[in-house]
Amino acid sequence: MRRTDDPIAWRIREMVDRTRQLKENDWYYYLLSSDALHGSKVVIDGREMLMFASYSYLDLIRHPRIDAAAQAAIQEFGSGTHGVRLLAGSTRLHDELEKTIAKFKKTEGAATYSSGFVTNQAVISALCGRHDVVFCDRLNHASIIDGCRLGLAKFVRFRHNDMEDLERKLKAADPKAGKLVVVDAVFSMDGDIVNLPVLDELCTKYGAWLMVDEAHSVGVLGETGHGIEEHFGMDGVIDIKMGTLSKTIPSAGGYIAADAEVINFLKHASRPFIFSAALPPASVAAANESFKVIEDEPERVKKAQRNMKYFLSELQKRGFDTMNSETCIVPIICGDEQPAWDMARLSHKEDIFVLPVVSPAVPEGTSRLRANVTAAHSLEEIDYAVDVFTRAAHQVGLL
Ligand SMILES: *Cc1c(COP(=O)(O)O)cnc(C)c1O
Repeated sequence: MRRTDDPIAWRIREMVDRTRQLKENDWYYYLLSSDALHGSKVVIDGREMLMFASYSYLDLIRHPRIDAAAQAAIQEFGSGTHGVRLLAGSTRLHDELEKTIAKFKKTEGAATYSSGFVTNQAVISALCGRHDVVFCDRLNHASIIDGCRLGLAKFVRFRHNDMEDLERKLKAADPKAGKLVVVDAVFSMDGDIVNLPVLDELCTKYGAWLMVDEAHSVGVLGETGHGIEEHFGMDGVIDIKMGTLSKTIPSAGGYIAADAEVINFLKHASRPFIFSAALPPASVAAANESFKVIEDEPERVKKAQRNMKYFLSELQKRGFDTMNSETCIVPIICGDEQPAWDMARLSHKEDIFVLPVVSPAVPEGTSRLRANVTAAHSLEEIDYAVDVFTRAAHQVGLL
């Protein structure tokens, strides 16, 4: 390093020390690289493990139709594009994907970006200018928080899923200011669902736009996996539907589905659409085919929903605290950091790939194992995992 004794060097050293400490205690489970993925299994260092940390909620990774679409796109267009979407980077495949997304999300149009993270940053900062106000749930995803910080608008946070607190804050804002309320549909650490019916009422009452991040809702919520509007039977109440192409959809990228005018605005005003390259053709074609597979194979959604109900009820029967989760993301609350690290270590010993989440990613005192269940699991696999978690919990004194 160029220097070893200034604040930048100290910051680097602090993190290096922390990760070294975790490794020494056998508590480090990050950046493990897998040699193979198939269904509910993952191979790490030659060892097959049961995957309980996946976002591939409908088990679409390695789906033959999706892989074939990606290969055909490389055959036709090659591996890259001529740069940014706005200028020379768009292909026919990009237009097709946006049409597919708009149809799936029942909107007039859609715009895609190179990641979900970038989508949130791009859109919030483009929509809201000086004198506007963004209202943000305290547990929103980091990319939403960063999007709020990036723009010039006033940034107001409200208590998690607390509609009375949101109303107080909407009431206190300048009635002439532009207002945007942004929330996760399913909160990514707790697995609970946002109160869409009341949000809709409040946004109407106070003249605010509503933006919902559906990263963990598409494929998971609603009879046919179309997301949170379908879950509540409230089609068309969300102004700006954000989603990712990297979770249920086994590709990469992010999108906004909205009215044609909003999409037109974003395509000419949001900076990553103008200054960052288009998604590669293979990723675009894979994403496009994935939405079609979800429509053609509704049994996948049914299986994910059956599994999440079963997993939650089995954990609760054993006495675990799973907070208010009612989705595929299941927090197993451990309280302090130490039992969370130990629960992860013991689970890995018994071939369960699961990750601990501690502060600052979640509030102090709510350290947890975050166990994700998907359509890939069999009921026997879920039983096995619940047994492993229970044994581990007895050993660390959690149960
Ligand atoms: C994962 C995630 C994102 C970011 O999506 P990427 O496509 O992985 O960049 C945004 N919002 C939420 C709620 C997420 O969980």
